[in-house]
Amino acid sequence: MNPDEEKIIVFMTFDNPVEANIIKSKLETNDIDCFLSDENIISINPLYSNAMGGIKLNIFEKNLVEAQSLLNESNELEVDKESGKIQCPKCSSYNVVLGPSSKKRYGFFTMLVSFLFFVHPFKTRNVYCCFNCGNEFNK
Ligand SMILES: [Zn+2]
Repeated sequence: MNPDEEKIIVFMTFDNPVEANIIKSKLETNDIDCFLSDENIISINPLYSNAMGGIKLNIFEKNLVEAQSLLNESNELEVDKESGKIQCPKCSSYNVVLGPSSKKRYGFFTMLVSFLFFVHPFKTRNVYCCFNCGNEFNK
């Protein structure tokens, strides 16, 4: 096996976990292996974000081009936000994004294990999240 193919690089960094998870699930949907690091620390205290250099989205270097073109060609998230197609059923806000449910946050140990072994054994369930009231719902 060519060792270069297994090289892991930081693809993007984020200041907030919601955004990071949205990009991550987008890559996973397209079968690009990736994982977040430093996520829990920042979720607990956003002030650590700067010190840690943000939440890192890691991918294999061999997938870099694929991941980049994927993000370039699809701007669903921005479209959803700008056109305001999706409305929160609770507070009627249009400030809604599609992302993994925060109700199933992984524990620190799980994150540690997946970090150590470079695997992501869980598929996150995507739901719509309202930034206005924090409501999570399916369309
Ligand atoms: Zn709402």
